[in-house]
Amino acid sequence: MADERAGRVADFIRPLRVEPGAKVNLADDYDPGYLAGVRGKKEGRRLLRAGIELLADLQRRLAAENSVGVLVCLQSLDAGGKDGTIRHVMSGINPQGVRVSNFKVPSAEELDHDYLWRYVRRLPRRGEIGIFNRSHYEEVLVVRVHPEHLVRQRLPEAARGPDVWDRRYREINDWERHLTDNGFRIVKLFLNLSKEEQRVRFLKRIDVPERNWKFSAADVRERARWDDYQHAFSEMLSATSTERAPWYVVPADRKWFARLCAGAVLAHTLLGIGPRYPDVGNAARRELAKVRKDLERQAPGRTARDGAR
Ligand code: AMP
Ligand code: MG
Repeated sequence: MADERAGRVADFIRPLRVEPGAKVNLADDYDPGYLAGVRGKKEGRRLLRAGIELLADLQRRLAAENSVGVLVCLQSLDAGGKDGTIRHVMSGINPQGVRVSNFKVPSAEELDHDYLWRYVRRLPRRGEIGIFNRSHYEEVLVVRVHPEHLVRQRLPEAARGPDVWDRRYREINDWERHLTDNGFRIVKLFLNLSKEEQRVRFLKRIDVPERNWKFSAADVRERARWDDYQHAFSEMLSATSTERAPWYVVPADRKWFARLCAGAVLAHTLLGIGPRYPDVGNAARRELAKVRKDLERQAPGRTARDGAR
């Protein structure tokens, strides 16, 4: 039964996985409107609810086992649905076991260090799920599309030549390899939104007063660089999808479907870890049995004679 479920989850997410070594062209290879045969929103929501229960159970085991940590990296264009995905997918999970980190324009202190420093500081502990809302991948995305960000990083001349992006891909792969070798799993999700759906969501952010805060003029400037971003995403996916830490391209034009996919990829990863409640061993179990008897004897209304029976 459990194996069957794991198989279904694996089949569901297979088309989203970027094969390591594949040369990705986002526009040709991945459809933001793909729905994998799920019948509709109602069916999708039902599946997500079941997935959330599964995730909650797996997370409790992960925390109890306290050996493997999980890092979830979420990337997308503006209005791709990162915040809503985190809110929904993590809704059943004990907040003590999760840590969400948002990465914005780097601070002066962060710029005083190497570019991975601020991400290292926010890594999950063992037993924890760490979520990066934007991640170290911004270092080959927004920084690539806007070279002024690279200038602000004040790299020595030898480190900012034309090979800087290839070098960063290698460094990121090496860093992730180090993490996976040492008991941390990395889940990489790219929420793939179409240009038309982004337009619709921007309009909503302008028209609905409660959403105004989510919109900034900078978002429109970024939209004007759509093709540059598509190129940067395609290159990133091609260079950094590895066997140990593959990328998943999540169709993001329907929010409910994107959330279902994100939950499924996370569930797949946790099922692969197979975390178990620690077995305390025979000696500890005997001790527990002894303490249990003792506690029963202390129940109100019981006499010492009852307890002796
Ligand atoms: P938001 O997620 O809407 O709050 O926006 C955060 C902003 O920070 C986005 O415009 C990102 O492009 C920007 N940002 C995130 N990481 C970096 C980075 N490493 N360098 C420059 N800008 C970044
Ligand atoms: Mg924004």
